[in-house]
Amino acid sequence: MKLLVATRNAGKVKEIHEILAAVPGVEVVGLAELNIPESPEEDDVEAFDTFEENALAKARYFAAKTGLAALADDSGICVDALGGAPGVRSRRFAPVDDARGERQDQANNRHLVHLLADVPDERRTARYVCAVAVAWPGGDEVVRTGTCEGVVLREPRASEGFGYDPLFYIDDEGRTFGEIPAGRKHEISHRGRALRAIAEALAGVDESEGGA
Ligand code: IMP
Repeated sequence: MKLLVATRNAGKVKEIHEILAAVPGVEVVGLAELNIPESPEEDDVEAFDTFEENALAKARYFAAKTGLAALADDSGICVDALGGAPGVRSRRFAPVDDARGERQDQANNRHLVHLLADVPDERRTARYVCAVAVAWPGGDEVVRTGTCEGVVLREPRASEGFGYDPLFYIDDEGRTFGEIPAGRKHEISHRGRALRAIAEALAGVDESEGGA
């Protein structure tokens, strides 16, 4: 099947393509390849308070717009010491005028380090959450969620990854998501888990409904 990866985030596009490359029978195409220009209304689509609702809303929007099956990812970091924030507001956590991409990511990381400055090591737990939805133009849809546990460091450590990865430390790995090779990140990440669950649903083998 042909699947439109409906996200403008370069980090997500790269990861989703890499993870879905291992799924037989799925042909992935991006918004850029189809020359679908960014429209201001896209930002208003993800106005909900849950990752699942936002992922579904984005997938429905692009399926209706393109006539293709569309896959959308809504994700973020939920920090326990901040009552689960920034959560669905992770992308624009730091109040920066007109920042995008890496500049916004760096501002977000500085903001998070600042807010957690007085939080002791044992209370710096957090999780990444990723909801992936696929919507078809005819109205069918499926959504799956993956999570990944970690702690927030006091300073970034990174050469890879995007977003909060330089601060997100995985105890069992002894390194941050910014230091982990992409292939290993996909094995344990929120996005890898959500996408593999989606792939199973697409194949009609859905573990969450008691399948193999
Ligand atoms: P969304 O586009 O509203 O889903 O925003 C997701 C935001 O969450 C991104 O801009 C990142 O800041 C953060 N995020 C989600 N997944 C990851 C990840 O795998 N690594 C680092 N940051 C992530």
